[in-house]
Amino acid sequence: MVTIQDYLNSDIIDIAPLLSLALNKSHTQLITHYDYQPNNEEKTQLNQLIKQRQSGTPFAYLNGTKGFYHLDFKVTPSTLIPRPETELLIDIALGLFDKNKICEVLDLGTGSGIIAVTLGDKNPQWHLTATDFSIDALNIAQQNAKTNINFQLGSWFEATPNQTFDLIISNPPYIKQGNPYLNDLSFEPQSALVSGKDGLDDVRTIIDNAPQYLNKKGYVLLEHGFDQQEEIIQLLNHDFFNIQKFKDYNQQNRAVLAQIK
Ligand code: GLN
Repeated sequence: MVTIQDYLNSDIIDIAPLLSLALNKSHTQLITHYDYQPNNEEKTQLNQLIKQRQSGTPFAYLNGTKGFYHLDFKVTPSTLIPRPETELLIDIALGLFDKNKICEVLDLGTGSGIIAVTLGDKNPQWHLTATDFSIDALNIAQQNAKTNINFQLGSWFEATPNQTFDLIISNPPYIKQGNPYLNDLSFEPQSALVSGKDGLDDVRTIIDNAPQYLNKKGYVLLEHGFDQQEEIIQLLNHDFFNIQKFKDYNQQNRAVLAQIK
């Protein structure tokens, strides 16, 4: 292969974005420079990227960023790659309180920081706290922050002793151990994906402990697996009411919102 056109006509996975990355050209520039012949250095770089992509490395880890909502986030193999489904949590949270009200919001297991950073950027009046038990993830989240966010290291609520919140949000790990779908996700941190036999170990920890970290009338908002909504509602019924169910933009059950009794 000699020209950009040759590469683009090949069936190499993700060849267009890989070319953009190796040649530092936008997609439009690639198309308008069809006859350009990558030099040896560029070819070496491109071939390396192609190899990594072909052996399964997700494009986001090669590129080092992933778009979420209205922002771009730095991602590394220490962080889950942001999923479009999680944008649903942002829409729900933004609709919950007045933009100008000062409210305390906690993002548990923030990963690359997408939830806290996006909410902070949209609503600078809100006070955001974000936790993760991975120091590497927390470092990335800090680099992604656009506003002042209170980052705390620790597992779930252990990171925020003695604080209470109006809204606790989490996209916790929720995939069942041994689910074959995990084979497709082997480059991502398994601790951000897998949560016990039924996938609900961390959801249980969050729901059981949330009441003591919530202000009066406070809410908990959780992302979950497409087949877990009813079970999670059962768990919530003990301490919560006003339970609302949400589907993602693929019509899969994906989130629940509940208010403390
Ligand atoms: N929604 C992700 C997936 O199915 C999983 C993320 C998670 O477990 N929180 O790929």
